[in-house]
Amino acid sequence: MRHSVCVFAVAAITAGGAHAQSGDVTRNLTEVTGDVWRFDNNFHVSMVVVTDEGAVVTDPINAEAATWLETEIRDRFGKEVTYMLPSHSHGDHGSGGEVLGDTATIIAHENYQKAVGQDFGPTTPADILFSDKLSLEHGGKTFELTYVGAGHGDDMVVMVVRPENVAFVVDIVSPKRLPYRDSTSAIDGIIGQVQVVSGLDFDILVPGHSGNGTMEDVTETLAYLEELKSKVKAELDAGKSLEEIVATVSMPDYEGWANYAEWLPLNIEGAVKALE
Ligand SMILES: [Zn+2]
Repeated sequence: MRHSVCVFAVAAITAGGAHAQSGDVTRNLTEVTGDVWRFDNNFHVSMVVVTDEGAVVTDPINAEAATWLETEIRDRFGKEVTYMLPSHSHGDHGSGGEVLGDTATIIAHENYQKAVGQDFGPTTPADILFSDKLSLEHGGKTFELTYVGAGHGDDMVVMVVRPENVAFVVDIVSPKRLPYRDSTSAIDGIIGQVQVVSGLDFDILVPGHSGNGTMEDVTETLAYLEELKSKVKAELDAGKSLEEIVATVSMPDYEGWANYAEWLPLNIEGAVKALE
C-alpha cells in the first residue's frame, strides 16, 4: 500500500510540473531512479539528488537555469540546495553557481578555481577543493567524486551517487552522439579520461548532453576515439593532407550516432591537430 501511494505521487508530480518553457528554452526535471533526477535545459543536462538533508545539484548550467531549478526543487521537494558538485569549469555547464551558492557548499577539483571569472569559466569559486578523490556522506547518500585527469579541460570530475549507482559524466561521454566538433584536438587526454570512467562502478550514466546510458556507452566511446585516432594516424603516416584525410576517413559503425555528418569532419580535424 505504502509503495503504491509513493508511485502515484511520483506519477502525479511528473504529469503536473515536469515540463516548462520560457522563451526558447525548454526545461525538464525528470526522475532517473530512486532519488536521482535529471535536469534538461535545452541541450545541457545536470543532475539532482534529493537527500534527507537537502538537494545536491551537479552543474548549475547558467544563472537562469539555476534559478528555475532552485525554485523547482523547493516547490516539488521542499528542499534547499545544500551542495553543488560541478563537473568542470567550462562556462556552458558551470555558470550560475552564485545562484545555488547562497545555500550550497560548492565542491570542485583544485584546478577549477583558477578558471573562475575567466572567459568561458565558472562565475563563482568553490568552497572545498580536492585533487584526486573525495567521498561525501550527506543525507543518507554517498557522493563519490573522481578526478579523471586532463584532456577535455584539466578539472573534470565524475560523480557517482550511491545507493542508486548513477554516474554523472559530462562532455567526455555523450551516449550515441559524436564528440563535440573539434574537441578531439585533445584526443589522447580524452581517451585517458574515458578510461578512468570505464574503471568506475555504476549502473546508469547521466551525461551532460544526450540521453542516459550505461557502461556500454563508455566502452563504445572509447572504441570510437581509438578507431578515429588510429585511422587519422595511418593517413598522416602516409603523408596525406588535412583535406585528403577529411575526404578519406569514415567511421561507418557510428553512422547512426547523432551529429555524425556534421561533426565527423571536425572530429577528424581535431585529431589531425592532436597527432601531426
Ligand atoms: Zn566542457
